[in-house]
Amino acid sequence: MRKPFIAGNWKMNTNNRSSSALAEGIVNGLKQFDADGLDVAICPPFVYLKQVAKAVSASHVALGAQDVYYQTDGAFTGEISCRMLKELGCTYVIIGHSERRHVIGETDELINRKLTAAINNGLLPIFCVGELLEERQADKTEEVVTAQIKKGLAGLGEEKASAITIAYEPVWAIGTGKTATTEQAEQAHQMIRAFIAQMYGPEFAEEIRIQYGGSVKPTNASELMAEEDVDGLLVGGASLKEDDFTAIIKASLRK
Ligand code: PEP
Repeated sequence: MRKPFIAGNWKMNTNNRSSSALAEGIVNGLKQFDADGLDVAICPPFVYLKQVAKAVSASHVALGAQDVYYQTDGAFTGEISCRMLKELGCTYVIIGHSERRHVIGETDELINRKLTAAINNGLLPIFCVGELLEERQADKTEEVVTAQIKKGLAGLGEEKASAITIAYEPVWAIGTGKTATTEQAEQAHQMIRAFIAQMYGPEFAEEIRIQYGGSVKPTNASELMAEEDVDGLLVGGASLKEDDFTAIIKASLRK
């Protein structure tokens, strides 16, 4: 049985005051119902991790970061290490988000190094994959996504790879208001699970969690989560509104 996992990616949003207020609002929102049946994480900007850690301490909400660098320490101006994230109380880290791939220019090789370092340092990665609109239109979704997975997980054996949650995020659905249909999401998740089965075997593939991400809202969360292979959601915009994020979590409980 795969435990549903809902994560909020705040991206480069909130401020000193609103980050704590949002985290506290989510913690309070989750007190209104029993959310023990699923895992919840929020991923604020690096600079607010410490105060958000305080706001979620002793709650059901775990802390995640939006990125990490693979080196332990040294002359890497502007970067943040796994040790630093662990010190601040992070459990999860998003790696390979499409904005880092396509806006910042991260390669599969860099993403592989980050995944490896995160796992070796006891962080649980949310490993994002997904195709561009033109790739989907050219019928290349499977080719693109399986290549991202193969290169991202290179050198990671079963034990290490078991720390990972995969987030399938079609790039054309992120922040655009266009959600993949439930059929498109389920088809992609099935394809990913089958590919993971080829890499690590069917038992491993049955256990790995695959989140969907791309314009998730309270109104579409439950139908996405109703799909067999959708094990959770990675939520951007709607995770910035405590009522929406809490409603998405509540809707996901019905799985
Ligand atoms: C994301 O940032 O991972 C995301 C899915 O964003 P949104 O929900 O805003 O589309």
